[in-house]
Amino acid sequence: MEFKGKSLKDRDFKEKNILYTDWHVKAHYAWDCGVALSKFFEGLKEGKLYGRSCPECGRVVIPPRMFCELCFKPTDKWVLLKDEGRINTFSVSYVNTDASRREKPNVPAVIEIEGASEGMGILHLVAHPEKIEWENLEEVLSMIKIGTKVKAVWKPSNEREGAITDIKYFVPVKEE
Ligand SMILES: [Zn+2]
Repeated sequence: MEFKGKSLKDRDFKEKNILYTDWHVKAHYAWDCGVALSKFFEGLKEGKLYGRSCPECGRVVIPPRMFCELCFKPTDKWVLLKDEGRINTFSVSYVNTDASRREKPNVPAVIEIEGASEGMGILHLVAHPEKIEWENLEEVLSMIKIGTKVKAVWKPSNEREGAITDIKYFVPVKEE
């Protein structure tokens, strides 16, 4: 694919090929994920997706939280959800995290998790079901649409660390 302009790489910053300023912040902090996200991350380590339900409106939210932002009431139950869902929205990206160009696209998507309320989902990557890597835009669009059913592909249990990356990616699955 041909792109106008010149893409930047990490190297360009390190070798000072471009104008930039380097400033180190002296910030020391500790971060606690709280009750809801701690349980969510523990669940990921076990290969499980946990949501939380609201006794007032009945919604099941994922990622879980300890209060319902619509009812202003505490949520009261853990709900074990399936590791599958449907694509709510997606993008076909030719940019890496270091801003360099990719030869082949990847597909970040918001996935609505089955069993959670409508619009509840997590951001993750969608891979090709057989070969992981997508060849091009046309191939992506031939297999993925808004509403396409997808299923999580997990890391082996001994490699999981309680992070969203314990799910390697989602892949499209055939509808029964
Ligand atoms: Zn509620």
